[in-house]
Amino acid sequence: MSEPYFPQLIFASPSGKTPRVMIAPPRYIQGDGVLDDLGRYLSLIKAKRSAVLISKRGLQADGIRILASMKAAGIESVIAIFNGECSKEEVALHKNTLQADSVDCLIAVGGGKCIDAGKSIAYKLGVPVAVVPTLASNDAPCSALSVMYGTGGEVTDVEFFPDNPALVVVDTGVVARASERYLVAGMGDAMATWYEARVCIDNPNAMSTIGGRPTLAACAIGEVCAKTLFEEGVAACASVQSKSVSESLEKVVEANTLLSGIGFESGGLAVAHSIAQSYALIPVVHDNYLHGEMVAMGTLAQVMMESTDEANRVAQFFAAVGLPIHLGQLSLDADNQDDIKLIVEASIGNAMVHNMPMPVTADLIRSSILGAHELGLSVTSEFGDQAYRRLQES
Ligand SMILES: [Zn+2]
Repeated sequence: MSEPYFPQLIFASPSGKTPRVMIAPPRYIQGDGVLDDLGRYLSLIKAKRSAVLISKRGLQADGIRILASMKAAGIESVIAIFNGECSKEEVALHKNTLQADSVDCLIAVGGGKCIDAGKSIAYKLGVPVAVVPTLASNDAPCSALSVMYGTGGEVTDVEFFPDNPALVVVDTGVVARASERYLVAGMGDAMATWYEARVCIDNPNAMSTIGGRPTLAACAIGEVCAKTLFEEGVAACASVQSKSVSESLEKVVEANTLLSGIGFESGGLAVAHSIAQSYALIPVVHDNYLHGEMVAMGTLAQVMMESTDEANRVAQFFAAVGLPIHLGQLSLDADNQDDIKLIVEASIGNAMVHNMPMPVTADLIRSSILGAHELGLSVTSEFGDQAYRRLQES
């Protein structure tokens, strides 16, 4: 049994002088059709007998290609069906079954929860994990942590691991055929990366998720991530609408998966994710919206603390790709004092808000959320909400 791992105990210095730390996966492979070469890539980690963690639906959609590719490379495979929740129970179930199967690596194929469960199972089995995301909706694939959920779907814990996934393989053809809403949610999560990393590097007291100071490298990755989204986001959406792979889609998938993944983990989080996690506490938001959609609203509020002009630019981009920009678009009501109070209190209770360079109070959080909401309403009345409605109705 692998012991729980806490990066903060390694990186935070007892002298109080926190070092700069950057972690990242050693190999990232992305392209149209790369799934057919998965077996060859797995030779990089000397896989001979792999467990494939995949949902029933995923197995029907991509299973034949994955298994054929592994067979061609002489790698045996054991299928483990993922049941949908990244919970301690799900992880324990697979760990117990696979332990007797002497697998030498685990391949997690699917969305964020399957990937996070795969990382946790692999760590407990003491084998490397290869990640094959089938959506570009989140930044789970490259990071060395798993967000754990209770059986009711609530976040219970974050598990950290000493190693990032040994291999990340993203088939952009698979992403192009998935729902556009997932790609767009990934852009919401990815856009936060730059704004959060930037405040963390500017505030000497801020620390990244792993308990180190951000590096210039992680911050630069965050910056190119945002630039890529502003320039290519709308074209990447068009690409997914026609279910085809374009250079814009390649760039945005890399931004959502690799740049966002390294950027958030080693660059640090701040108000955008604190508020996003607080929105998730409201059942109607939790049940109907994706993580990246909540992060988009959190990002707008964070940017409102710093610059209305920049917030306006971000809101216009979000409206163009179909991300929510006002409370109504998360099924919330600005006049519902109970909900707003709960969101503000949960946000201020999250240590990440204090990565901001200015003192963050409950009043500042409230005024930023409501300011972002008002800005979103005015951008919506000017530019419309066609993209948002198309995605939500799809
Ligand atoms: Zn996120």
